[in-house]
Amino acid sequence: MFKSGSTDTTKIGFVNRNNQQNHGTRGVVGTDHGQFSYKLECLNKNCGHVYGANGTDIFQRKCPKCQGGKSGIEF
Ligand SMILES: [Zn+2]
Repeated sequence: MFKSGSTDTTKIGFVNRNNQQNHGTRGVVGTDHGQFSYKLECLNKNCGHVYGANGTDIFQRKCPKCQGGKSGIEF
């Protein structure tokens, strides 16, 4: 069961400037202080990579597979 966070960028359905969509959190603790890990999906054509990211990173996160972003975390 995935849920939205309390800020705009952590809401389910949010898409950042790099075309990465947030699918919410299951409550798994992230790697940044006090953060949950969120499930992100790359919406770029021919990618669709799914990975985890800290709530604080969502607004600027780049895809680890096609945009050279850092590796995803557990979600
Ligand atoms: Zn991608």
